[in-house]
Amino acid sequence: MFQKILIANRGEIALRIQRACREMGIPTVAVHSTADAEAMHVRLADESVCIGPPPARDSYLNIASILSAAAITGADAIHPGYGFLSENAEFADMVEAHGLTFIGPSADHIRMMGDKIAAKTAMASLGVPLVPGSDGELASLEEARRVAGRIGYPVLIKAAAGGGGRGMKVAKDADGLEDAWRLARTEAAAAFGNDAVYLEKYLDRPRHIELQILADGHGSVVHFGERDCSLQRRHQKLVEEAGSPALDAAARDALGATATAALRQLGYRNAGTLEFLWQDGQFAFIEMNTRLQVEHPVTEMVCGIDLVKEQIRVAAGAELGYGQDEVRFSGHAIECRVTAEDPETFAPSAGRVTAFHAPGGLGVRVDSALYAGASVPPWYDSMVAKLIVHAPTREEAIARLRRALAEFAVVGIKTTLPLHERIAAHPEFAAGDYTIHWLERLVTAG
Ligand code: ADP
Repeated sequence: MFQKILIANRGEIALRIQRACREMGIPTVAVHSTADAEAMHVRLADESVCIGPPPARDSYLNIASILSAAAITGADAIHPGYGFLSENAEFADMVEAHGLTFIGPSADHIRMMGDKIAAKTAMASLGVPLVPGSDGELASLEEARRVAGRIGYPVLIKAAAGGGGRGMKVAKDADGLEDAWRLARTEAAAAFGNDAVYLEKYLDRPRHIELQILADGHGSVVHFGERDCSLQRRHQKLVEEAGSPALDAAARDALGATATAALRQLGYRNAGTLEFLWQDGQFAFIEMNTRLQVEHPVTEMVCGIDLVKEQIRVAAGAELGYGQDEVRFSGHAIECRVTAEDPETFAPSAGRVTAFHAPGGLGVRVDSALYAGASVPPWYDSMVAKLIVHAPTREEAIARLRRALAEFAVVGIKTTLPLHERIAAHPEFAAGDYTIHWLERLVTAG
């Protein structure tokens, strides 16, 4: 097992990883920018190293600084969390080249899945169904026209290097195709330095359903069921559930069998998530994330496992030691991502938290690095807390969510807590009757 783990992240996920390490008896090293010197992930770490000024490219994305911090402190493994360097294959390679262990999959698998075209090609060859679309990268606008004409409008132009919902544009009809093509390429070039795009049929009322996988690299691959992440704004998840209100056990088992077989053939190791769109009883793969996800706690609650500890064990070379039959699902879990934003305009709201009260009680979990007096810097992702509830049934989970949201107080900055209260109170949410477009309509309806 590792002697010391450096956590190359900040905020709630840095704390989340520290918690797992502490329970495993592994000391941790926190890294931080000058803006985060007082942050909770620094306060609670065994050791901490300042790795640069506030902009992420100079600190949390600064590979040389992070590797130096690991060398100075004698860490022998690095957990990247999510975001920042977690899906950077070059970083994973460099960590290994320095004799440390990267707690995640191989650099080759990160590279493959980071290119969404390569990911789709690989999954198709392993028998996983895809959303209909172009056969790889689009060479020209004319090719986009031909493919769109064949599969029918509306279509979506997507960036091969995409992430966070960027570089994705819908064309409702042939007239809109040129604009979508240009905008997607410009946005992709600016965001990812790569303007390669591909085309997919734009599904009109899908749900986003993803499957949590864990593989030990010794031939064992299990899944921990699905998460429904259809409640999105601008293609970004706001609320997630495990399991999906739309799926039954048979559909889950069938999806799980296909996905685990594919990853076994691929020789995948560590945690990963396969993302699908689900419409009319059909699953279609859209992408794979080769890291721990923001919404992993809902899976932990219903499966009673600690995914971060499992990631660490597997990275240290351990076998899973259990099979699919031993994975049990109990009850229902819901997560709300609380961001430091105006709940109506979504304008960012950095600043100092003057008072903070987290809800508690049975089946309530709050993953957050906030405290009274904490500063929320303007430099990073706006998510400041995750509220997770777990209960025997979905109905009870929603009642618990409403109760917990009413207790939650964050003063000094604006947060999206009022929006979560609106969602939790909504009869269509209670009925589980929503697609990926539902929240967008709720938000624009004001
Ligand atoms: P990113 O990597 O930027 O998050 P994804 O490919 O995971 O991009 O897609 C993000 C979201 O965009 C999906 O969850 C879904 O809501 C929407 N989306 C993606 N592809 C399609 C599609 N073909 N049809 C309709 N919606 C889509």
